[in-house]
Amino acid sequence: MEFDLIERVRDLTAQARDDVLTGIGDDAAVLTVPAGRELAVAMDTLVAGVHFPPGTRAFDIGWKALAVNLSDLAAMGAVPAWALLSMTLPDADRAFVEGLAEGFAALAAPHRVALVGGDTTRGPLSITVAVHGFLPSGQGLLRSGANVGDVVMVTGTLGDAAAGLRCIGTGRGDDLVARLDRPTPRVAAGGALRGVATACIDVSDGLVADLGHICRASGVAAELDPALLPRSEALRAMFADNDTTAFALTGGDDYELCFTLPSQHVADVSAEMARLGCGATRIGRIVAGQGVRLADTAGQWHAAAVGGWDHFAP
Ligand code: ADP
Ligand code: MG
Repeated sequence: MEFDLIERVRDLTAQARDDVLTGIGDDAAVLTVPAGRELAVAMDTLVAGVHFPPGTRAFDIGWKALAVNLSDLAAMGAVPAWALLSMTLPDADRAFVEGLAEGFAALAAPHRVALVGGDTTRGPLSITVAVHGFLPSGQGLLRSGANVGDVVMVTGTLGDAAAGLRCIGTGRGDDLVARLDRPTPRVAAGGALRGVATACIDVSDGLVADLGHICRASGVAAELDPALLPRSEALRAMFADNDTTAFALTGGDDYELCFTLPSQHVADVSAEMARLGCGATRIGRIVAGQGVRLADTAGQWHAAAVGGWDHFAP
């Protein structure tokens, strides 16, 4: 049964790559890293009831499990190549596994990601994906490079996924629920930021929390103007202004890229991000100090409450 399932996953996700010498089916995959490239690797787990609501479609779970990992590679500026998939399943539900593999494949194919192995075990539903990508040597986008005077930008729009979580089961806000279930990793955007952005992170826990990681790693502070936060039409049509601001600042699950760069590059990067289809918006600046600060309507700065997702929060 288990081998049946693994074979189905292999068939549904088939993606030919010259650098896969041995893929699924042996004891380990054998892969070739191109000369002059570094390997960027990341792994993320989705646990039922924690990272996706019970009842989420298998297709969406497969998509999202890969998407959150590609988002991590994007935040490093890496080009994705290979993935591993570990499935812990309550039972050998063939339809579920097929749906999951189809969702995974729907995102893997456009990025030419080959699934080269994994593991299959029985237990409470949990899906782990690991990804491997390539970087030109020494060019990974780190969290630690932001400088005082840099501009803070973010791709796409923020807050849709958090709003989507509130819309589940209401029959409204389908666009927002889709952003929650099938996030778009900003892989091309991350690649284009190599050599230009001074620091980069993907927004998974919430903008304030994630920009806070850049600040800590870089030894700087950030000032954000909440009025500048990019919010989608769909979000603004359904929620009050205060709610959209809260979703955008602390909602999380956006999988947009937040990055810093010297101000002279803002125009070029904005044009390039528009060309790539996601766009990017200037939302603040890097200053001396620590933590993330927000401007109030009177123009005063206040420390931002993090409010991002923390698995071990009391
Ligand atoms: P082993 O006992 O050697 O770990 P497995 O039965 O776990 O072997 O796996 C057999 C092959 O199938 C290996 O190549 C493994 O990488 C692959 N595999 C197992 N589960 C998955 C999965 N969920 N997705 C992709 N490949 C898998
Ligand atoms: Mg195994």
